[in-house]
Amino acid sequence: MLDIRQIPVLSDNFIYLVREPASGAVAVVDPAVAGPVLEEAKRLSWKITHILNTHHHPDHVGGNMEIKEATGCVIVGPGHDPDRIPGMDVEVRDGDSYDLGKERSQVFFVPGHTRGHIAYWFKDSDALFCGDTMFSIGCGRLFEGTPQQMWTSLKRLRALPPATRIYCAHEYTESNIRFAVTVDPENEALRKRERDVKALRAAGKPSVPSLLGEEQAANPFLRADAPELAAAIGMAGRDPVDVFAEVRKRKDVF
Ligand code: ZN
Ligand code: FE
Repeated sequence: MLDIRQIPVLSDNFIYLVREPASGAVAVVDPAVAGPVLEEAKRLSWKITHILNTHHHPDHVGGNMEIKEATGCVIVGPGHDPDRIPGMDVEVRDGDSYDLGKERSQVFFVPGHTRGHIAYWFKDSDALFCGDTMFSIGCGRLFEGTPQQMWTSLKRLRALPPATRIYCAHEYTESNIRFAVTVDPENEALRKRERDVKALRAAGKPSVPSLLGEEQAANPFLRADAPELAAAIGMAGRDPVDVFAEVRKRKDVF
């Protein structure tokens, strides 16, 4: 089982420090910055051996070079985006697996937010690192992709086991919920998530990771093919891609 620590940085980013206990390998997932990561690793006496990047945005790769210089770690990132990941040593692509010590991750190509975005699924630890593709009760903005691409990407992630924990890269859940209830107001699972997240945030706790099972039921961006959601936004019977595009468009201007 991976030991996963969450480091909140900048205004709402999460960096993850992931240790595979049998080998002692330690990966940093999407280091926005270096300082807090190096400090936390030192405090834990963990030796950083890898960086796993999901996509090229500065709030995901900003710490790459400084951490690599400090530790000599190997940087793993999307082969679908070979030129925009600073210091990338190992390119992984859809369908590849990458082993962190004795734990295997499976790589998914999930374009939409960016054209090269990937996610890492550690099946044996029920952990998905999905960057800015899926958030709790949300999804990433379509900076470089089409609704069709993003919906396809999200459907692939949605198909993972419900017990999968979603280690996304931002604490956006409360504002995502404020939007979600405007398109899916009758959804009981969403209302439950709203209550749970309110309590967590009031107690100063993160709302991430969430459970995929809860996202499947409550995240409107995973429900573009649910007849109730289509009906609630006046698009009953329409193609799920169109429903997804409409929900994403409404969120962009919310
Ligand atoms: Zn991003
Ligand atoms: Fe981001």
